[in-house]
Amino acid sequence: MAEATIHYDVLVVGTGNAACCAALAAVEGKARVGILEKAAKRDRGGNSALTGHIRFVFNGIEDLRPLVKNTSDAELRALLERLPQRTEADAWDEVMRVTDNQSDQEMLQVHVTESLKTMHWLAAMGHDWVPGSQWNENILNPNGGGFGLQQRHCTLLEKAGAVFHYDSPAVGLVQDATGRVTGVRALTAEGYKVFSAKAVVLACGSFEANPEMRARYLGPGWDMVRVRGVPFNTGDGLRMALDIGAMPHGSWSSCHASPQDINLPPFTVPSAAMHADKNRYMHPYSIMVNMRGERFVDEADDLRGKTYAKMGRAILAQPGGVAFQVLDAKARNMNLYPPNYAKATTARADTLEKLAEQLDINVPNFVRTVREFNAAIPANLPPFSRNPVVLDGRSTQGLTLPKSNYSMTVEEPPFEAWPVRCGMTFTFGGLRTEAKTAQVQHVAGWPIAGLYAAGEMAGGLWVGNYASGSGMMAGATFGRIAGIHAATAAHQQPR
Ligand SMILES: Cc1cc2nc3c(=O)[nH]c(=O)nc-3n(C[C@H](O)[C@H](O)[C@H](O)COP(=O)(O)OP(=O)(O)OC[C@H]3O[C@@H](n4cnc5c(N)ncnc54)[C@H](O)[C@@H]3O)c2cc1C
Repeated sequence: MAEATIHYDVLVVGTGNAACCAALAAVEGKARVGILEKAAKRDRGGNSALTGHIRFVFNGIEDLRPLVKNTSDAELRALLERLPQRTEADAWDEVMRVTDNQSDQEMLQVHVTESLKTMHWLAAMGHDWVPGSQWNENILNPNGGGFGLQQRHCTLLEKAGAVFHYDSPAVGLVQDATGRVTGVRALTAEGYKVFSAKAVVLACGSFEANPEMRARYLGPGWDMVRVRGVPFNTGDGLRMALDIGAMPHGSWSSCHASPQDINLPPFTVPSAAMHADKNRYMHPYSIMVNMRGERFVDEADDLRGKTYAKMGRAILAQPGGVAFQVLDAKARNMNLYPPNYAKATTARADTLEKLAEQLDINVPNFVRTVREFNAAIPANLPPFSRNPVVLDGRSTQGLTLPKSNYSMTVEEPPFEAWPVRCGMTFTFGGLRTEAKTAQVQHVAGWPIAGLYAAGEMAGGLWVGNYASGSGMMAGATFGRIAGIHAATAAHQQPR
């Protein structure tokens, strides 16, 4: 079948947050925008449509007011009691802290300095936020969650005249004789088509849903993990870009993977239902043991939002890729469980032995682990902290494997255990992009004319770990930058 050609100024690949921000910025820059999406319309929005919150820089109530519609100053002040501000310096330090100072400094500089500006731009586009949950380090959530945000993105784009092509996976980049990217080849219901464009923005996710690439880059065992998000992000954009000489960048051997309910489904597609149901982020308050009945990780070497994304790897390395979060009655009495634990898979017993039997784990080892842990908790610890942004310094003493914060004895029946597995969120390896323009770099050291990338596809920011809420902020920031520069580049091309 002959390939049809469709002309745009800017062609965006994907309908996640990064893609939509790129498309909105390109429309604002007076470009004719086309959007290719692999999924059907009902499944649009990518992982972005499954999210809940966003991490951004703010210096006080004045910065928050433009972001909310129906939230009073009193409610904003209550949020600020939990976290009065996140300065640019704080935001820089947070990322450097979780990445062991390995984040790309140029990318991080832009991520940090553009975040508030990007939030206000999104608000001017028609988005708004609502107060976030008390369990989170981030104080605002998009109105309607990530699903609401993505629906608004798409409605805004439809109204602005951007043309969506669903069920149309991009399969390759098209170049002219000079190496400029001039379009994308896609597989549509009518066969292969070339969507020609003066500039292309790739924002079609990382390779988290591709078992072959996971095994190749992340290592043995990763091929079998379950995916928290959409099944569509199979690394297509990365492969297409690498095929024409794009430079890989960042940490291709690490990823965001978190503790999830043992019954996590193989993947999830966007819907109005919130998708935090399967998150099992009580690790900082619990002790985690494996099938041998042994602890294997410091459950709280940092805040929940700065440890959950690396916990999946630790769990995957355990026998059967399974672990158990164990708490005693104190956690219930103190009301520590987030609401999503109400539907969690759990075991409950009046003795440690019976709990271990129910879980089918090594009973004597488990009982010894708990007793040693209890004995390692000094009597004169500081008060327990419920604030998700405050470490309380309640550390064990004398254990080879310490628990650095939030330590409480496990001794008051009933005892509860939550079986967890590793859930893959997204991978960190991406393309080298120029931080201020989002233009993709060639392995030869020059920028690839006509090619931009954003969101999970842009490598460099995350290495080994991640701070909660950063993915949506990075997607918006670099998506917007990509759209601005793609539109400018398109206008510089002959009509
Ligand atoms: C369950 C879950 C919860 C999360 N919660 C949060 C949170 O609260 N806050 C936060 O900041 N981050 C969160 N994240 C991470 C966040 O989702 C990502 O960092 C962010 O969505 C990345 O945006 P993106 O636009 O790059 O990718 P995505 O939103 O995943 O979009 C990629 C798009 O590309 C499309 N696509 C893929 N291949 C092709 C192809 N060949 N052709 C055309 N289209 C293609 C996909 O269908 C999709 O529409 C969460 C992730 C998951 C899975």
